[in-house]
Amino acid sequence: MDGTLRGVVAVDGPSGTGKSTTARGLALRLDARYLDTGAMYRAVTLAVLRAGVPVDVAATAADGHDEVVAVALGARLDVSTDPAEPRVRLDGDDVDAEIRGSEVTAAVSAVSALTAVRTHLVDVQRRIVREALDDGAGIVVEGRDIGTVVVPDAGLKVFLTASELVRAGRRDAENTAAGRAGAAGTDSTRADLVRRDTLDSSRAASPLRPAHDAVEVDTSTLDIDGVLARLQHLAEDREMVTGLADVGVGRTGG
Ligand code: C5P
Repeated sequence: MDGTLRGVVAVDGPSGTGKSTTARGLALRLDARYLDTGAMYRAVTLAVLRAGVPVDVAATAADGHDEVVAVALGARLDVSTDPAEPRVRLDGDDVDAEIRGSEVTAAVSAVSALTAVRTHLVDVQRRIVREALDDGAGIVVEGRDIGTVVVPDAGLKVFLTASELVRAGRRDAENTAAGRAGAAGTDSTRADLVRRDTLDSSRAASPLRPAHDAVEVDTSTLDIDGVLARLQHLAEDREMVTGLADVGVGRTGG
């Protein structure tokens, strides 16, 4: 038995490091809830695009863009925290596929650079985390600023990394598997990842960076089971996993 998570695991890192697979897999293993904050930024970006409001995709400004902010804050999001069925609804529509498309991917970093958008979504994210903890559940939260801003007192903070080439290869494989246009070859995917990382890391409002107390895990040469085993270990070390099988003092393997 893998046990049950108590508390919050924050999983941050750039695109293509395996955050979603890892965070969701850990939540499934440890009977916890799962929150994909990137899906929330993507969904409000889709709301902006649907409203026909132009987005300057190269913008890293923290303020301004009143129309974008108005639409983003008015969007009605419904986010499931069930790792077996993560989904996001925008104004009642299931938008899981659409938010992964190339239009949203191109615009999301600019929308998520806006302070007002971040303040709003961070509030919603903290509410979801509090609700889980109040219910006695553990929760795995993935994003870019979870350990630094959203849940700075998370019991475990992990910052995933991987080489650019590995990340681009993974993103390409995902796009191909999902039948998405944009599976344009590793060079183009790599350029898009680098563009997005640069925007995410250079923005004024809560830029992508590891928390000072985050554990960095390089996933370049690890498969998903390897990454999960490492994270489970780290959570167990911090005594965040209860109900382990009868091994007395806890697990040492994996
Ligand atoms: O994780 P994902 O690739 O779906 O995230 C999409 C974008 O949302 C990121 O490139 C980043 O601009 C933004 N994001 C963010 N803060 C988070 C999660 C995602 O700014 N906590």
